[in-house]
Amino acid sequence: MKKPFDIQQFIRPNVLSMKPYASARDEFKDHQADLVFLDANENPYDTGYNRYPDPQQIDLKSRIAAIKNVPVNHVFLGNGSDEVLDLIFRAFCEPQKDEVMILPPTYGMYEVLANLNAIHILKVDLDTDFQPNVDAILKQQSSSTKILFLCAPNNPTGNSIDEDKIEALLHGFNGLVVIDEAYIDFTTKDSWSVRLQEFPNLIITQTLSKAYGLAGIRLGICYASEAIIRILNRIKPPYNVNMLTQEKALEDLKQTAIIDEKITKIIAQRRWLVSELENICFIEKVFPSEANFLLVKVDNADKRYEQLINKGIVVRNRTNQPNCYNCLRFTIGTPMDNIKLLSALKQIS
Ligand SMILES: *Cc1c(COP(=O)(O)O)cnc(C)c1O
Repeated sequence: MKKPFDIQQFIRPNVLSMKPYASARDEFKDHQADLVFLDANENPYDTGYNRYPDPQQIDLKSRIAAIKNVPVNHVFLGNGSDEVLDLIFRAFCEPQKDEVMILPPTYGMYEVLANLNAIHILKVDLDTDFQPNVDAILKQQSSSTKILFLCAPNNPTGNSIDEDKIEALLHGFNGLVVIDEAYIDFTTKDSWSVRLQEFPNLIITQTLSKAYGLAGIRLGICYASEAIIRILNRIKPPYNVNMLTQEKALEDLKQTAIIDEKITKIIAQRRWLVSELENICFIEKVFPSEANFLLVKVDNADKRYEQLINKGIVVRNRTNQPNCYNCLRFTIGTPMDNIKLLSALKQIS
C-alpha cells in the first residue's frame, strides 16, 4: 500500500527554509487613492504604468477562478506556463539528485527545463496509440523520481490521454503529477481541475497562449492544492505577471463568447481539414486530434517539409520524435490559411 502523499516531503529544503522576498506592495496592501505612496521607489509621475503591478494578481485570478470554476486560493499565475513549469522544478527537485519522468513524444520544454535545473530525466515512451504505459511508469519510479509530466491533449500527437490511465497514475505514482492542459479548450473532455480536491499530488497547468489567442502577453495558469500554491508563491519573482498582461487578460476574459466562437471555428476547421487531408496521396495517416493541430504521417517528412517551405507554408517537422517517424504537425489556421495549406499539398503531390 502506497503511503499517503505528504507535500512537505517533496519541498526542497532550501525552499522550505528560505525567507521569501517581501515587496513594498506585500508589506502594505491598502490601495486607497488618497494615500501617499513613497515606499517602492517608483517614479511619482503618472504614466499609467509608473506603479508596480499587483504581485498577487487578485483581480485577474478571481476572474480566471470564476470562469474555470476553481476556488481562487487554488490558482497561481505565471509569465506563461513555461514559467510555471520552471517554478515547479525549482520548488520540488534538488539539482544533481532528483529526477523527473516524461513520456515522449511530448512537449519539449519539460526536458529543456530539467536540463536547465540539472534534474535527471527518465523517459518512458508513449505506446503506438500515444497512451502511457502505466505499469512501466510505476515500475521505473524510484524514491528520487519527484515529478511525472503528462500532457493532455498531448503535443505533438494531439490525442487525449485515457482518463482511467491518468487516474491510475495519480493514485499509483508516489510524487507530483503535472497535467499540462495547454490544449484543454479544444477537447470535449473535462479539465482535471474538477478533481483537484481528490488528489493532493495533482498540479494542472493551462495557458492563454492557445485557445485564448494571447500567446504574446505570456500568461500561464496553474491549479493545485493550497499547500502547493503557497510554495509557488514563496519562490516566484515578486512581479512575475506585468501590468499590461494583467489588464489585457482581464479585458479579453470579459468576452468569453468571442473566445468560444473562435474555438468553435478552429474545431470545425480541424474536422474539415482531416477529411481533406485524407485525399492527399502522400499522406499515410492523420492522427486523431483533440487540439488545434494535426499530426500527419507522410511518405518523407524532410522532403515534404522543404517543399512546403518553398510554397510559403511553415509547418513543424516532428520526424525525430519517438513513434513520429515521417510525421509533420500542422497548426489549424484560418479557413484561408488552411486552403493555402491544402492547395500547396496538392501542388507537391
Ligand atoms: C504551447 C504549449 C504551452 C504554452 O506555454 P506558454 O508558456 O503558456 O505559452 C504549454 N504546454 C504545451 C504542451 C504547449 O504545447
